[in-house]
Amino acid sequence: MNLSVETVPPERRKPKPAADNLGFGNLFTDHMLTMRYQAGTGWQDAAIVPYQPFSLDPAAMVLHYGQAIFEGLKAYRGEDGSALLFRPKDNIRRMNRSAARMCMPSLPEEEVFAALCRLVDLEREWIPAARGASLYIRPTMIATEPGLGVRPAEEYLFFIILSPVGAYYPEGFNPVKIFVTDTYVRAVPGGVGEAKTAGNYAASIIAAVEAKEKGYTQVLWLDGVERRYIEEVGTMNIFFVINGEVITPPLAGSILPGITRDSVLRLVRDWGLPVSERRISIDEVLAAAENGSLTEVFGTGTAAVISPVGLLSYRGKEYPVNGGATGKLAQRLFDELLGIQYGERPDPYGWLVRL
Ligand SMILES: *Cc1c(COP(=O)(O)O)cnc(C)c1O
Repeated sequence: MNLSVETVPPERRKPKPAADNLGFGNLFTDHMLTMRYQAGTGWQDAAIVPYQPFSLDPAAMVLHYGQAIFEGLKAYRGEDGSALLFRPKDNIRRMNRSAARMCMPSLPEEEVFAALCRLVDLEREWIPAARGASLYIRPTMIATEPGLGVRPAEEYLFFIILSPVGAYYPEGFNPVKIFVTDTYVRAVPGGVGEAKTAGNYAASIIAAVEAKEKGYTQVLWLDGVERRYIEEVGTMNIFFVINGEVITPPLAGSILPGITRDSVLRLVRDWGLPVSERRISIDEVLAAAENGSLTEVFGTGTAAVISPVGLLSYRGKEYPVNGGATGKLAQRLFDELLGIQYGERPDPYGWLVRL
């Protein structure tokens, strides 16, 4: 596949922001990658171009029927100035699984990987140097064919944009307060919960807004049938430690198969801790919180990496976890994963791609 590159002249590039005040996802780099798909012809016109708005037909099918999928991964700056990507091929493979579920075309994985590396290499000066900061990478695919009729579109746009993001915990590793909702559900068996598709997030906003109004940071989702079994938290997978057993819900179709989740499972298994991917009910979690056997709860996802949970709220009652403090395992995982991601610790699993 041909990749054309049109760069912004150096004097017209945007100033790089200060690394200590980046926030998340508000700033974008000078370039982006685009590629178009046409049924019958396949993917074509892969190009790195100056970051700019798209023009889209008002009847573009994504705007009406929501064929939209995305990914999220990060590039970290190594001590030697190299750009370090964490498990990028897993993101591209997952995007193709999302595409299959949403009747969208499959991406050529090797070509997309090469194009992604080329884009990050071109934008490497945008990777912030501050510890905890990184360059967030957002591959996205949308249906662009104009038409009002529910069926798979025949034209798509794939693009990658890049955003320098700050440390998720600028004031230190702080446990969050979680609201357990039994009003709303995120996904149901047979639905699209395991696809990283835009509609899942649109559907989740109301629960997040209501939780924030009540003073909580995130929502914990229960299963869509019995509203009893734990699914995930906000846009993260979730782990519990009960009587020393590390527990996370299984990937049974309604949960997003997180790459951080997979990395955590790999680490804790190799550390010799008892691990279960099994169904766990909210009753089991709260009973364990009350009898003291629940020692830790934490979320896992690319944005925060590890997010310790200090409190659960369910049906009007609050249940502190580990006295509201960060647990030992969450801290160990955070240190290990960031150590690997920044190239400071050995990478025995071959997770890093160094540019
Ligand atoms: C992206 C995402 C995750 C975490 O996946 P990672 O690959 O670890 O970043 C978990 N849950 C939801 C709903 C997500 O969208």
